[in-house]
Amino acid sequence: MAKSRNSLFDWPRQAPSAALHCLADADFILGLELGPPDWWQTWQQQRLAELLKWTSLTGLSQRPVQRRNDYRSQFEPGAPRVPPDHGRLEAYQSSGSSGVPVTFWRSELATRINVSHYWADHRRQGRDLRTSMAVITGTPGPHSGNHKQLLADPWLHPGPQMGRNAPQFTMREHATWICEHAPNYLATTPATLSSILSIIEMEHLKAPRISQVMTSSHVVEPALRDRARRVLAASIRDRYSCEEIGPIAFQCPESDDYYHVAVANTLVEVVDNYGKPLPEGEPGSVLVTGLHQWASPAVRYDLGDIAALHAHCPACGATVPALSQLLGRKYFLLNSATDGLRHVRILAEHWLACADVREHRVVQTGARTFRAEVVLDHPMTELERKALSDMLARLIGSEFTITLVQLDAIPWPPSAKRHEFVGWQP
Ligand SMILES: [Zn+2]
Repeated sequence: MAKSRNSLFDWPRQAPSAALHCLADADFILGLELGPPDWWQTWQQQRLAELLKWTSLTGLSQRPVQRRNDYRSQFEPGAPRVPPDHGRLEAYQSSGSSGVPVTFWRSELATRINVSHYWADHRRQGRDLRTSMAVITGTPGPHSGNHKQLLADPWLHPGPQMGRNAPQFTMREHATWICEHAPNYLATTPATLSSILSIIEMEHLKAPRISQVMTSSHVVEPALRDRARRVLAASIRDRYSCEEIGPIAFQCPESDDYYHVAVANTLVEVVDNYGKPLPEGEPGSVLVTGLHQWASPAVRYDLGDIAALHAHCPACGATVPALSQLLGRKYFLLNSATDGLRHVRILAEHWLACADVREHRVVQTGARTFRAEVVLDHPMTELERKALSDMLARLIGSEFTITLVQLDAIPWPPSAKRHEFVGWQP
């Protein structure tokens, strides 16, 4: 059998250092989570002290909340430096999904810790990485054919992995592709998963059995978990992250309601509108501090997300803090003066029951006003207009004024992510 770099056949004389690091990192990450609380607390305090010394700051509690605009103006001017043991730096551009794109820098060390966290989550969630996995996101990048076969790693991920560049295909094509390939695991966004489930049900496709769906990038509402269980027999295991610092929390392996804070990567606070910590279990703004993000430091960085914080995971006994009631970006929530922020998902079947809608987007334009944009292949009839208006009033709320407009194409922002609901911030 041919020898190759990174192969298993050089062992025990050689083993790839990236794989060894990842295995050791994962042991450390999961060890902190299950060990006595003073392990992660002591370790975090040391990392935080080093970070603050590096950034010449005095103490976290005295730091003002860092907003997205502050972060942008702080780090865009030029390439920063880091200590040599953090490795080379690379520039990244956030998608700007909340309106303000940000350029930031990340070191090799910070990237390694990010990657190790996602791999550690495979172990946390008991995944068998010898079985098949499909990825439908923007990450695989453009490819020919229906998907690209990702390179197997005999040390860390020996099973077959199919990467599919989400924007290249329609939702119907994603649904039939998933039914055809029936992977054991699927990684995608909640919106793509929701559309796939709708199409499988509406078109009576033969649904595959999927063990776990790994989601990220947007809120997972309880109804989506129920639909994934019903249609695919799949359990959703969500990952909560941001582009600037990477993983923030991973769903508890024993509960849909709690997320274990990734204490080996980030320090999380939940605060009120004045930046003051909220009592346990009370939802507020999420602030994150990236412990390895020395190139473009995020210290008490306000993501614009809402969640509640708990001292430990109430579901499984992990000793690290846990998040619950994760509502995600305020930017994608309905903002109601009476009920506060809430999540809205209008399913494909809701739209299609009213008209042959090809694309749609709902934008909140003011405290009580919405604009619903639809693309049809014919001029909208009065019957369709009435059906759509009634459906939107039912799902969004009859107290709002909703203006329905037909467009030739929806002016999506230049990003791989298409957000079909955009909220309003006064
Ligand atoms: Zn737990």
